[in-house]
Amino acid sequence: MGLAIVTGGSRGIGAAIAEKLAADGHDIVINCASSVDKAEAVAEKCRAHGVKAVPMQWDVSDHAACDKALKEIKETLGVPYILVNNAGITRDGLMVRMKEEQFDDVIRINLKGAYNMLQLCGAMMMRAKQGRIVNISSISGLVGNFGQINYCAAKAGLIGMTKTAAKELGSRGITVNAVAPGFIDTDMTSKLSEELKENAKKQIALGRFGKPEEIAGVVSFLVSDNASFITGQTIVADGGMI
Ligand code: NDP
Repeated sequence: MGLAIVTGGSRGIGAAIAEKLAADGHDIVINCASSVDKAEAVAEKCRAHGVKAVPMQWDVSDHAACDKALKEIKETLGVPYILVNNAGITRDGLMVRMKEEQFDDVIRINLKGAYNMLQLCGAMMMRAKQGRIVNISSISGLVGNFGQINYCAAKAGLIGMTKTAAKELGSRGITVNAVAPGFIDTDMTSKLSEELKENAKKQIALGRFGKPEEIAGVVSFLVSDNASFITGQTIVADGGMI
């Protein structure tokens, strides 16, 4: 079992991933943007599984901050074996009305943030000749979505990045995959109108939103030995929506 970094691990899907990987026996770094108290609460639950768990605040869109955090992690906990690029935001709006900053913020955090971590952590993993990377994309990146041109571009970009990194890191025994969740019950989707949520459920074969734990299970599989020959893939977990 190795060390796992989960970006955006303080809430929602990231928190469920951190807890599941801790239950699997991995030490965990729980990154967050600002809610350190929540990250500490997740760390406490992880520690109940007998692993080390450390909450750490840094902005994944800041390359220098990622570099600093990773150096500190390497010194104190060792080279990460697992990276889960989960941190993400939405700034929805129809394309013709979207402000430049809405577009830029989402690309900067959801796409560039994942790249920052992938590049820096990937280099460390290459030297260690092992590693597992999972990028949390979205079905929005596969099929597009009204009001989310920024988010869909970032999430589609993540899939391209996943495929490229899989090719570049494969010879060092590192796998890189993506998970594309559908609608999952978290703070992110709680902002949506009831009407939109009810309409969405009608399009989901299982007739309900997913739970964060149902994405954590996919990540747990992708970083396990059971998935040792899977790389460059995007696993859709959407209850049968697309
Ligand atoms: P939440 O809004 O519940 O949580 C977002 C997490 O990302 C928080 O931990 C937040 O930290 C962190 N975060 C945001 N910005 C930054 C940043 N700049 N640096 C570091 N951490 C940051 O999101 P979800 O759990 O719903 O989503 C998690 C991922 O799954 C996202 O990438 C999202 O796009 C994706 N996804 C979600 C779906 C859903 O239906 N919920 C569907 C498909 C994909 P803090 O708590 O400090 O703000």
